[in-house]
Amino acid sequence: VLSVTLAPYGALDGEGGVIAVIHDITEQRRLDDARREFVANVSHELRTPLTNIRSYTETLLDAAGDIPIDTEKQFLGVISSESERMARIVTDLLTLSKLDYGRMELRMTRFPLGDMLKNVANAMKFTAEDSGHELTVDTPDDLPQIVGDRERIEQVVVNILSNAVKYTPAGGHVRLSARMAGANRVRITVEDDGVGIPAADVPRLFERFYRVDKARSREAGGTGLGLAIAKEIVEQHEGKIALASEYGKGTTVTITLPTDLIPNREEGPV
Ligand code: ADP
Repeated sequence: VLSVTLAPYGALDGEGGVIAVIHDITEQRRLDDARREFVANVSHELRTPLTNIRSYTETLLDAAGDIPIDTEKQFLGVISSESERMARIVTDLLTLSKLDYGRMELRMTRFPLGDMLKNVANAMKFTAEDSGHELTVDTPDDLPQIVGDRERIEQVVVNILSNAVKYTPAGGHVRLSARMAGANRVRITVEDDGVGIPAADVPRLFERFYRVDKARSREAGGTGLGLAIAKEIVEQHEGKIALASEYGKGTTVTITLPTDLIPNREEGPV
């Protein structure tokens, strides 16, 4: 897309002319479109639970006293879970906005990655087993310490592991592993043998609100922002995140992080 600006120069009655300046505004147009789409998505995502909350509340008010207590409880349950959903969306949006504006200060410390991964896996083990999944961890003992914001990196790993569990039917396997990838990079891998993702969707998964199966994501309590947040956090650590998948077979997410970023805090208790 090109835009042309005309600027006259010289004396009005004498020598002079017009300079045409041509700008390529393709990128600007693309950013405007992306911004508009994002605002439309946010509005839609918030309006759906809000509509539910409103109609259930109105029904309860209109029929006060006339509905069986069980039905009343069920309606209140919907109201409660829909407000939780709205709260999750807003929290995720605030996180993204802080990341966008560089206002999320990373608290960089040096910490043992292997311990962190094992802690995360232990914390998730019960949820995974409850839903009939087997979660295995494979990290070598000599995995190095890395420099990063421990809490944020934990948030990323928890998110990717929860996705693996969410999108894998009961009886499936989830595997968390980590290896050195070169002298000063480490690779964390989360593999599952779940539903997988059609090839056409894979390139768009890190976009905000992009979901392959909206109903399934909603049911599992997803906001569609998890991978977008993970990508921002990993990139702020000068790392990379990638997803490979085979539809119907399973998905593998790979996070590569440098081990030696410069810490801006006291060393962690290690
Ligand atoms: P959500 O909150 O919907 O899980 P995410 O941003 O975390 O949002 O993921 C975006 C979409 O990517 C999900 O809705 C799902 O369709 C797909 N996805 C993510 N991880 C997996 C996985 N391990 N297996 C299959 N699909 C996945």
